[in-house]
Amino acid sequence: MNPNNSHIDRNDSAIDPQGAAAAETGRTLKQMGRAVKKNLNRQVQFMLNSCVNCGLCAESCHYYCATGDSDLIPANKFKKVHKILQTHFHPLKSRLPFLLKTDKFNEHLLTDLYKAAYENCTLCGKCALTCPMGINTAEILYLARAMLAAIGRLPSGLEKPVETFFKVGNYLDLTTADFIETIEWFAEEMSDEIGEENFSIPIDKKNAEVLYIPHPLEVRDLPFLVMYAIKIFHFAGEDYTFSSHDFDTVNYAYYQGCKDNMMRIAQRMLDARENLQAKHIALAPCGHGYRVMRWEVEKYLGKPFTFPPVQTIVELIDRYLRQGRIKLKKDTFAGPMTYHDPCNIARRGGVLQAPRNILQALTSTFVEMQPRGARNYCCGGGLASTGDYGQLRITMGKKKAEQIRQTGAKVVVTNCFNCMTQIRDLNKAYELNIEVKSIVELVAESLNPNVATLG
Ligand code: SF4
Ligand code: SF4
Repeated sequence: MNPNNSHIDRNDSAIDPQGAAAAETGRTLKQMGRAVKKNLNRQVQFMLNSCVNCGLCAESCHYYCATGDSDLIPANKFKKVHKILQTHFHPLKSRLPFLLKTDKFNEHLLTDLYKAAYENCTLCGKCALTCPMGINTAEILYLARAMLAAIGRLPSGLEKPVETFFKVGNYLDLTTADFIETIEWFAEEMSDEIGEENFSIPIDKKNAEVLYIPHPLEVRDLPFLVMYAIKIFHFAGEDYTFSSHDFDTVNYAYYQGCKDNMMRIAQRMLDARENLQAKHIALAPCGHGYRVMRWEVEKYLGKPFTFPPVQTIVELIDRYLRQGRIKLKKDTFAGPMTYHDPCNIARRGGVLQAPRNILQALTSTFVEMQPRGARNYCCGGGLASTGDYGQLRITMGKKKAEQIRQTGAKVVVTNCFNCMTQIRDLNKAYELNIEVKSIVELVAESLNPNVATLG
């Protein structure tokens, strides 16, 4: 957290109506109040008042499972937000001096809210599936993020990437020239494997079926992951293109809680598609990037896109397999294999069956985690997006480590960059003795060229 962002008196002193501290607090309350007005919809309002204290949500939260700390039960996390809203932002109650006296608006209260919203919840949404009242704690804590973002209370890891995106168009500060040069280099590197001397990779091609948006970290640091995607498109005979205007599937502003910033980032991708008149947008493995483009942007705009729903590359691969456009050599990789469902792609994104179809084609030893699919546990990797939180991330990943160990799998496959990083760290910390693989890599390395439709 940026200490310079503190807007109020650190001495926890009662608000001095005459002093500068009171004026500062007033400003803070106003800014947060505006965020409440903008983000508090009827659904969230209903949820805030519906908890019947049954405790069923406790075991669905990987934080509580890892620690047994009752403060980390979803209901107790959102009750913090509820209390602050009731005391300081309720149109009537916030004017009752006896309430304000017992619950002062001070630094402690903001720190508590910050911890609940950014550190103690990955917005994974699992608790919503167990709550008989339909309460989605992730939505409520997202409101808390919006309130904090309105006063600039953000984890450091969420500030710089967004600022950089606004300056240069991607969060890693890559130039367009860098990107084009890298793609041209990929083409040279791949020509032998593809078997074409002048193999080229389309950039800014008009009217392509698919505009593919890569993860910029892959472009910069893990080029083979982008090459795997290109290889699959080529073998499937896909009419695809990259864009030199937008090559960043990530949207850190979503995690900030600031939907206006989220939208500014998403708009660049929409502009890239519009300029190229591509029919579809497909995204590299990135959980929250997918969630934003598949669900959040249309909600924000209040109307559906004029083009088909945005897809993650896994959905394309599944279609290629079903259409016989690619075939895989089963068991190219030794198993057993299991699949980790990234929360924002599976539970909160709706993509559950496609990766399983692919796993069935990849291996004879696919074994599911328990629970699986929409009810799979969060790995805790979302914390990496909000900063790093090193040890906290590892501690809160305990449940995922247990799930993986129980499968007996040697390979954990997933479809999100953050999840891969987190599970690799869990592998070391909990000595799981596994390999962690991107589903795109396994498919590309298992392609059977004899039955592929070459583009
Ligand atoms: S959304 Fe996920 S991390 Fe947050 S409280 Fe619910 S189960 Fe826990
Ligand atoms: S499951 Fe729902 S109703 Fe029960 S304690 Fe949790 S949030 Fe409240």
